[in-house]
Amino acid sequence: MVVVNPKFTEELMEFGAEKVMECFNCGNCTAICPVSTNEHLFPRRFVRYIQLGLKDKILDAEEAWLCLACRLCAELCPRDARPSDTMIALKRLSVENGRTPPYIRDFLQNITKQRNPWGIGKFKRDNWIKKADVEIPRVKENPEFEWLWFVGCANSFESRSTEVTVKIAKILNDIGLNFAILGREEGCCGNDARRAGEEGLFELLMEENIKIFEKYGVERIVTHSPHCYNTFKNEYNGYEVKLVLEFIYDAIKKGKLNLKPLDVKVTYHDSCFLGRYNGIYDLPREVLESIPGVELVEMKNNRKLSICCGGGAGNIVGEYPGEIQPARIRAREAAETGAEVLAVACPFCLLMLEDAVKAEGLDDKIVVKDIVELVYESAYE
Ligand code: SF4
Ligand code: SF4
Repeated sequence: MVVVNPKFTEELMEFGAEKVMECFNCGNCTAICPVSTNEHLFPRRFVRYIQLGLKDKILDAEEAWLCLACRLCAELCPRDARPSDTMIALKRLSVENGRTPPYIRDFLQNITKQRNPWGIGKFKRDNWIKKADVEIPRVKENPEFEWLWFVGCANSFESRSTEVTVKIAKILNDIGLNFAILGREEGCCGNDARRAGEEGLFELLMEENIKIFEKYGVERIVTHSPHCYNTFKNEYNGYEVKLVLEFIYDAIKKGKLNLKPLDVKVTYHDSCFLGRYNGIYDLPREVLESIPGVELVEMKNNRKLSICCGGGAGNIVGEYPGEIQPARIRAREAAETGAEVLAVACPFCLLMLEDAVKAEGLDDKIVVKDIVELVYESAYE
């Protein structure tokens, strides 16, 4: 028997699904959702169940957790019903009711205990420094720092991403940015805990970070991760926030980096948290095009219609069921352009797409690199 519960609709609206009643069931969201291609997640159906107050139909629906919070559906919604916000609201309610699937529970517990999604000991957060060939000042060593470089979880702990981190360190050092890092005192920004519906954990992380920022007089934050960038810029209050790529582009324009030709065809994958969340589409392309010898080609779906890599909202630690996964669709699209490099500007995209390129057997055709790595290659190799 189907139990209709109007209070459920109201609860969801309070949790962020304010626009859910605007939906007139056109189905655009389901048609474009990269997860629905795998016949797993149908956002329209969830939106409709919520409108009707069919609580029992959805609280245990594990496929809801596959939603990446990528906002692609929101781009095509003719009523601005914000289906992706509705999915987050639904997750919030599920978290409150203790209905999280095991991999999301682990993801959230890892952040709670170790302040990173992988659950690696938090004392290892600054271990990447050992691989760097320049001095990386911590806030205590450079109390007059102008910019706090918030390194972020992936760029601190995940081995492939730390290869990018040491290159960022070298570039920031060489272009003369007055920065410092928090080292082991850095926490998790909370962006993805929030997208996985753990609002309480997000607030706790935010409070903790703000306390540390106050302790060291932080006013300006630079970060490479679009996830950290999004939350510091839009959800914390009162900080000037910039991307590492902004400093790099500025340095290139001022001739501070001596770039040699690379002679390579590159396609760029828009990160959801740079593109749809923050409208940053041009900057990564401008950096790429300022490297001599780079020929930039676009994928079929680009800019605001770019397909998510599949790593959002806690899914960076999950396993997608089936072979039709967002990252694999994206890897094929990238290879179809004939590019030799699939450039990214996000550590999650780097991990997801590198795995997808291998899974699709495309690694002899295309290689995934962070834009920073291309700049580094051009400047130093
Ligand atoms: S936010 Fe992305 S993954 Fe979630 S329902 Fe919308 S299109 Fe699908
Ligand atoms: S695209 Fe918007 S209006 Fe259409 S079904 Fe999805 S939420 Fe409803």
